[in-house]
Amino acid sequence: SFNLATMLTESARTHPDRPVARTAHGDLGYAELDALSGRLAAGLRREGLAPGARVAVQLPNLPQFLVAYFGILKAGLVMVPMNPLLTADEIAHQLADSGASLMVVWEGCLEQAAKAAGDVPLFVVGNAPEGTRPFDELYDGGGDTGTAPTGPGDTAVLIYTSGTTGRPKGAELGHFQLYMNCTVSSELFGVEDDDVVMAVLPFFHVFGLSGVVNTAVRRGTTMSVVPRFTVPDVLDAIHRHRVSVFLGVPAMFHALTEADEGDRDLSSLRVAGSGGAAMSEALLTRFEDRFGIVVLEGYGMTETASTATMNRPGERRPLSIGKPVWGVETRVVNAAGEELPPGQVGELLVRGHCVTRGYHGNPAATAEAIRDGWLHTGDLARTDDDGFLYIVDRMKDLVIRGGYNVYPREVEEVLHAHPAVAEAAVVGRPDERLGEEVAAYVALRPGAAATPEELIAHSRGHLAAYKYPREVVILPELPRNATGKLLKRELRDR
Ligand code: ATP
Ligand code: MG
Repeated sequence: SFNLATMLTESARTHPDRPVARTAHGDLGYAELDALSGRLAAGLRREGLAPGARVAVQLPNLPQFLVAYFGILKAGLVMVPMNPLLTADEIAHQLADSGASLMVVWEGCLEQAAKAAGDVPLFVVGNAPEGTRPFDELYDGGGDTGTAPTGPGDTAVLIYTSGTTGRPKGAELGHFQLYMNCTVSSELFGVEDDDVVMAVLPFFHVFGLSGVVNTAVRRGTTMSVVPRFTVPDVLDAIHRHRVSVFLGVPAMFHALTEADEGDRDLSSLRVAGSGGAAMSEALLTRFEDRFGIVVLEGYGMTETASTATMNRPGERRPLSIGKPVWGVETRVVNAAGEELPPGQVGELLVRGHCVTRGYHGNPAATAEAIRDGWLHTGDLARTDDDGFLYIVDRMKDLVIRGGYNVYPREVEEVLHAHPAVAEAAVVGRPDERLGEEVAAYVALRPGAAATPEELIAHSRGHLAAYKYPREVVILPELPRNATGKLLKRELRDR
């Protein structure tokens, strides 16, 4: 048998008193989390849930998330994490699609969850109104009935994709798949047990769950938990908890680069990791100069249990997503499925222990995405002569202008290089003559000024005539979802 939660029990045995989670309101220790989650597993069994049943969890980054997660795993159940920002319709869809039997929900999400829950019983973290039950009740009954003997291939987590390109799909991630992912990525970062890992990436997303929670617990390190990203909260946490490893998405790096740290001591930081979206070279350089640490960019998807490729310390290339992690293979292929030589752009395929067994209850989507073990990522990539991979763009974001392929990311890099530009997003706008025209949306850095004409001229100076944006729109900020991903759909719909 193989249960991912065993890594918690092992870390609790080695460091019972060490905090697994430090928050602004106090610490949760390893032994304490192990005991609480054991009791929760017993409580879930008392509710009559049989192994394999799904339990939805809609919580921000709170210690109770960790209790719920490891308790669900120990009971041999499947956790379905949900973004606290989902609407009632979205919650209803994920509950029905996953077939969840029970839901743990934060009081702040209760209004939407109650509209969506139907017959699914709600256990509330916080104040539990009539018709619901307090979450504590599940683990206050005492007793620990042990960890379920799940198999390595059994699903541990059913996690929905971010919904950037369409309706979120539920990817099934197994116990061993998740164990391998945090093992290889923590090795690459050189996470040691005296590190303190920043836990501001949302736990409901695969990057926060696998990249942060699993990695920390696997190594027995402490997480500094911040429930919602704000610059002062993150800087305070780094200062107070002596955070050494910072994991984030580019939008967070951007906000931190512009921040004023005041008299906080940030010297504990030793390495940072970025993923989830493209990091521009301009931002990478600004962040590294500002904080004096290296940023290692990685690439992954919900379907790959987080990290599939990563840069290595001492061997990293800006703009690159590095090389496949141990035990994972990648290929860049053309539409006929033929492998392309370095420099040529094609679809990125991934194979190995990181790949999901499929989308829950959707064999057609699974067969479409995974062929002969190769996951078709929907991302365009190329390699260089040394085997480093570069994400060119999502296939769905490609702009075809008058028959020519324009990769928005290339245009965005040029805009990012302009000193006034904080963020840029390039999309195709329907055009009668050309099919699509290149349009850019830009947010400026605080205190900076630039006109659309100036930015068009700047782009024109650095890009071929068919690539530079004919239209630049300046916005106060660009639309992003809760995991910091640009919502190009929304820009296209404008
Ligand atoms: P959906 O599949 O529902 O449309 P999504 O693809 O955004 O949403 P995730 O699984 O959270 O959902 O994100 C995976 C995607 O994020 C990748 O396919 C890729 O497009 C993008 N991504 C991840 N890391 C990087 C990176 N380092 N550089 C560029 N893009 C990245
Ligand atoms: Mg996707």
